[in-house]
Amino acid sequence: GGPLPERSALREAIARATRLSEAQALAPLLAAARMSPAQAKRTDALARQLVRGMREGPQQGGRAGRVQSLMQTYALSSEEGVALMCLAEALLRIPDPATRDALIRDKIGQGDWQQHVGRSPSLFVNAASWGLLLTGKLVATHSEGALLASLTRLVAKSGEPLIRQGVQLAMQMLGEQFVTGETIDEALHRARAMESQGFRYSYDMLGEAALTEADAQRYMQAYENAIHAIGKASNGQGVVNGPGISIKLSALHPRYSRAQHQRVMDELLPRVLKLTELARHYDIGLNIDAEEVDRLDISLDLLEALCLSPSLQGWHGIGLVMQAYQKRSPLVIDFVVDLAQRTGHRLMVRLVKGAYWDSEIKRAQLDGQSDYPVYTRKHHTDVSYLACARQLLAAPEAVYPQFATHNAHTLAAIVQLAHDIGGDYTPGQYEFQCLHGMGEPLYRQVVGRASVAGPSQDASTPSRGSGLHGVSLRGGQQFSRPCRIYAPVGTHETLLAYLVRRLLENGANSSFVNRMGDASVSISDLVQDPVARTEEDAQREDSSPGQPHPQIALPAQMYGAARRNSSGPDLAHEPTLRQLAVYMQAQVQLVTVTPLTASPASGGAIHTLRNPADHSDVLGTVHYASAAEVDAALQAATDFAPAWAVTPPAQRAA
Ligand code: FAD
Repeated sequence: GGPLPERSALREAIARATRLSEAQALAPLLAAARMSPAQAKRTDALARQLVRGMREGPQQGGRAGRVQSLMQTYALSSEEGVALMCLAEALLRIPDPATRDALIRDKIGQGDWQQHVGRSPSLFVNAASWGLLLTGKLVATHSEGALLASLTRLVAKSGEPLIRQGVQLAMQMLGEQFVTGETIDEALHRARAMESQGFRYSYDMLGEAALTEADAQRYMQAYENAIHAIGKASNGQGVVNGPGISIKLSALHPRYSRAQHQRVMDELLPRVLKLTELARHYDIGLNIDAEEVDRLDISLDLLEALCLSPSLQGWHGIGLVMQAYQKRSPLVIDFVVDLAQRTGHRLMVRLVKGAYWDSEIKRAQLDGQSDYPVYTRKHHTDVSYLACARQLLAAPEAVYPQFATHNAHTLAAIVQLAHDIGGDYTPGQYEFQCLHGMGEPLYRQVVGRASVAGPSQDASTPSRGSGLHGVSLRGGQQFSRPCRIYAPVGTHETLLAYLVRRLLENGANSSFVNRMGDASVSISDLVQDPVARTEEDAQREDSSPGQPHPQIALPAQMYGAARRNSSGPDLAHEPTLRQLAVYMQAQVQLVTVTPLTASPASGGAIHTLRNPADHSDVLGTVHYASAAEVDAALQAATDFAPAWAVTPPAQRAA
């Protein structure tokens, strides 16, 4: 479809901010995220306490602890790691422990395991994905032979028992660490233990990016089934206290993109609406996950249509996700708050930092965009997160803020900001969220049974909280803030894309969870205020605050001074599309194509050139050479050939 007509000022403002320069985008946020000295002090104290609680408290026992040490100490960033993960993933396909053990013995326990591995290439089918994830290298570097050799080396170096243990750990991590259950019923059942400790849940049916209509229908069915199951389990607890569901729009339509705007509105919207109506029927929150940045704009069109839908009028369970790493996020919040006010909904807004950072950077480079849509320094994203949090907390009638983070400093800062903006905590004011398998050690210190109000107590019936807004977390005492766990549900076939994002986050040496597990990172470093960090950078680099990462060149400059990258238009950006349309209109001149040797007036046939996508659109004409003209051209070449043959090479080259 063509560009959309001119849109509201708020939407235009979002569009304009998409690829702002980093310093320009960050400048107003630095002011918004800056805390008073008293706030900063309380935040620092609480963050330290939480970190100490995680580091010194009961060690992450069992699986979670082993996964962390696997991440920290096992050299996963190597060919060996890739081979190991391939083996681990193969093990996931085996349902029972006895057969799993048999496979390990078969593959690596025996002296001749190499042969077996060599005969089952399927072991390495996902080497590309794991390779990209673990080593950052593309598949080409992972030949089967090299992977096989790596496994051999591993066995020689470490011995079979260790490998078996490593594989078993990796396998457990894949299968269990990040996934709550293979079916929604299993997940609902497993959730009970944590719910009794005061946690809430939002279930996610694993799977994304439907490639076909059949895929989309399957996901639709899975979501519907899940809503029925969650709805029954929720038993009328309401959107704030009860469990909810998170959906991915890319799973519900194979052409969920700007270029298919009309189809998205005609075909995807009715599906989302149907799911949302079902969620309303059970009064469980339905949250729309945020995906790649080029889908943000169209997701806002869908959100607006949902909010305007008469069947959802007055319901407060519509949710969306905001990614703080996007430069335009504060303007998206302006739009969302306005939308909520216009349509009479209290929208549930989950604030995340964003899970697609690596691919957003890469895509902007591939496409030769004018700038990145995301920040390039981690603490700039942290600054943006706090500024966005403040904005959300300041609009309590319009939004229910849900702060999804595993970072103790971010959490502590939110507690302070929320208190200073809204006073003592009240149920329904906001909640925290974490991912299954990632945030529990942090949130066990934060969540208390007291934060769970009974079914009758909902966002609309606030009761005063404990007043523990600050560092009153003493001697293991819990201060009660609710936390919702994002709980992926699915089988191994649907796991990989989700796992890649989780492992990227766990494995990134800039991420809080990774640094948390690294004893060499001091608590002071871990809990540093991002505004202070940004200013320190500026001072050290003798520049203004908010400069992009010095090692991440702008897309145009990624090849250095010698060669400019090709540039491309952003085809999900309305102003660009409008400009392109005007430009194309202005460029419409009929083309006339003629052979070099012929004159337009010659006797050759004339053909009309048409736009292959629209045959009524005439582009110009082609004049073919006549047979006589072809003969004449050949004759001319023949006549000229001897002279050319004796021309010295240098002269020919010139
Ligand atoms: P931190 O370690 O403090 O932050 C890590 C984050 O910083 C990275 O994820 C990235 O966003 C950012 N970052 C890292 N390096 C850089 C850099 N060089 N420049 C700029 N920024 C950088 N993500 C989605 O995209 N969509 C969702 O719908 C979504 N749903 C979620 C739901 C829940 C309940 C949770 C807990 C997370 C969800 N996420 C989603 C994932 C989320 O984006 C990451 O878990 C989050 O970014 C990690 O942030 P943190 O505060 O825990 O960790």
